[in-house]
Amino acid sequence: MTFAELYGRSATARGEAPGRVNLIGEHTDYNGGFVLPAAIPRRTIVEIAPRGDRGVRAWSAEFPESGTTAYTLGDERRRHDWIDYVQGLTAVLAADGLQQGFDARIESTVPLGSGLSSSASLEIALGRAVRDAFALALDDVTLAIRARRVETDFVGAPVGIMDQMACSLADTTSALFLDTRTLEYSRVPLPPAAALIVIESGVTHRHAGGEYKTRRDECAQAAARLGVHELRDVGPDELARVDALPEPLNRRARHVVTENARVLETVDALKRGDLPAVGELFLASHASMRDDFQISVPPIDALVEVARGVQGVYGVRLTGGGFGGSIVALADRARASAAAERIVQAHNRAHQASARVLVP
Ligand code: ADP
Ligand code: MG
Repeated sequence: MTFAELYGRSATARGEAPGRVNLIGEHTDYNGGFVLPAAIPRRTIVEIAPRGDRGVRAWSAEFPESGTTAYTLGDERRRHDWIDYVQGLTAVLAADGLQQGFDARIESTVPLGSGLSSSASLEIALGRAVRDAFALALDDVTLAIRARRVETDFVGAPVGIMDQMACSLADTTSALFLDTRTLEYSRVPLPPAAALIVIESGVTHRHAGGEYKTRRDECAQAAARLGVHELRDVGPDELARVDALPEPLNRRARHVVTENARVLETVDALKRGDLPAVGELFLASHASMRDDFQISVPPIDALVEVARGVQGVYGVRLTGGGFGGSIVALADRARASAAAERIVQAHNRAHQASARVLVP
């Protein structure tokens, strides 16, 4: 349904934001570490029109059966439903001067729950629409900080800042090298000879579910035992101390420490245009997530095994929070489309799976 069909008038503001794929640096963001996401060519679009009162109505093309959902500013209450992302944002933006209600229409080509950050894409797109409609003074970094609070404070998902920073600041032709402690960032161009492949496994994850929180808690425990504020403060030269921690804290910390180092090495390799080196780092990252951080699942491992054997693929790994979701591969640009199709066909045939190509 169009905005006019839903609300009987035209939208007056609109916001867009892409989904993201993380190249490397997984579960490092809530440890104060480094991440390297890029935008994907799929986006969320939010149209809005202000109202004369404090009412909010929202409709999403992803959930047409919900119809339009209504609530009042200042009376946001968690409903364990998609509307919580809208309610969470208006609750957070009250402190930035949002006082007037609006009607909203949401549509998105970012798959939900596939590790490509549909949630942050929605938060940033809606935030941009609201910012424009009500002339709120929020820059893109501040908007990302507000959007993260939607998840941590309202939805109840204790995520780091990567997704919101990526959806707010990344583009599709470079990787966003972000220090999640300082929020300093730079854009690292993807070498012209390279292309990213993103394949959705068909197995969806649940972020708010227990495993993500468990990993977060384990990292905090490991940091406390090592006497540091965050695992970011442990360098790869201190792995002997990490290995001496009790199971499974040793594994969890080893992943974070080595993963942070791999992000830095990947940035260097991309700048040199050394695609085989980036590929090796992707594979090492996957092994670390599978064996040490233990956030992979058998269907994802199977997909990675198929992909790494396909011609034109330099390396491949699970991307996103884990327990399902998507894989990202670095491939030779000229062979990327054919390689992606071959991976999906071989995997689906061997495992009766429903993986599909999202990029390119
Ligand atoms: P992801 O990895 O895709 O971000 P999350 O579990 O963090 O997975 O967020 C997915 C949730 O975000 C959906 O279940 C839904 O509640 C909300 N969401 C994302 N995109 C949309 C959309 N276009 N319309 C409505 N809700 C959305
Ligand atoms: Mg999300």
